Amino acid sequence: MSTGEQYVRICGRIGRFTERLTGVSIVDAYFGPPSLAPERQTGSTEPDIILQDIGSLVDNIEGNIRNRLRREYLLGEASSLQAVVRWLSGTGMPYAELVRDLFHVEMKQFPAALIDRQTRYLEELMAEFPGRDLREKVEMFRKQGEVSGEALRTLVEHDLQSRSVDVGDMFQKQVFSLMHSRVTDNGVEYRAVSDKPWGGYNYYKGGFRSVNEFNIDRPANRDSMLLLIYHEYEHHVSNLWREKAYVGKKYTELSIVPLHTGRCIISEGAADTAKEFLNVDQTSPRMKVYDALYALIRMVHINAAIMMNRDGRDSEEVADYISEHGLRTKEMARGMIDFIAPRTRDGRVNLWAPYAFTYHIGRADFVLPTFRKAEEHDSLAEFYRTLYLNPFSGSSVTWSEAFDWL
Ligand SMILES: [Zn+2]
Repeated sequence: MSTGEQYVRICGRIGRFTERLTGVSIVDAYFGPPSLAPERQTGSTEPDIILQDIGSLVDNIEGNIRNRLRREYLLGEASSLQAVVRWLSGTGMPYAELVRDLFHVEMKQFPAALIDRQTRYLEELMAEFPGRDLREKVEMFRKQGEVSGEALRTLVEHDLQSRSVDVGDMFQKQVFSLMHSRVTDNGVEYRAVSDKPWGGYNYYKGGFRSVNEFNIDRPANRDSMLLLIYHEYEHHVSNLWREKAYVGKKYTELSIVPLHTGRCIISEGAADTAKEFLNVDQTSPRMKVYDALYALIRMVHINAAIMMNRDGRDSEEVADYISEHGLRTKEMARGMIDFIAPRTRDGRVNLWAPYAFTYHIGRADFVLPTFRKAEEHDSLAEFYRTLYLNPFSGSSVTWSEAFDWL
């Protein structure tokens, strides 16, 4: 068995292990050979045995993989997988250690002064918007274009569906053409779903296609849904290139996409920077407000995750915090708690609890500064080639080494 195959098999077993304990598999996507499919990995899901097997995987990576970036990438992924198993086997891992061991980044809490500054910036941006105070202004801003129920389903399945074709064209014209390389894109299908802890999710199905699901339980805003498309479409795009590298170069390990590793930092960071990649006009007053609100809520969400998971604060208290500082209604705040709470509503460990960090850290500390630097040096073509053609650049562990040419 090759090291790549061994890696795919272990990911599949850990997926079964996390699904048994949390209801969610850490396998986000799989498009490799049927014999290696996660559901066919019947080996033990006992934590001690899995940890031993990850140990032998690590030995093989060190002994067999000569490409330096590929080796570092796989070692990083393997150590994240170890952390997943240690965490769920109930060893009582402190939250900061969990975040560091999964994502290879430091957990950062945002100081109140930074959140206040962002709030004042928003106040300036919204000076001319209707409403008595900032909270009312934000509420009225959100009400414009609010949709729910069947109207929201239609928005997802018709408007977003056709908008995604445009976004696919934008990637072709503005990103892939610079790279002088082509990739098959069989598109994204849009579906409205219920009863999920997240707002939207990109399922990469293999065969160069994705399904994007949008949660329609909560009312949504038409404009912000249209903005979310850039994020979700970038996930689709990054998987297209990953599948192409798997098919063309026979890197078996690329055929599985595990959650909760250093890969997620770059994946979410790049998705959150898609608007910049595509040069979306962000200068209109509404767009600026969206951007400022978005930065604010990402910070508040991270602080809320720390309050719940490190400090053990209860959900009502944390919902108050999100509502007050993130300028959300109490109902919206409660909806956001499902994603960060240490336990799910049915009392299991919430697999998503450490995930809130990936977006902001991935964008602010990794992808955006590198993208800006590439722009300054007139090196965007090489930036995209490194990001999409070198699949092993896409991890918090290998990012700076992959871009050391810049
Ligand atoms: Zn995402």
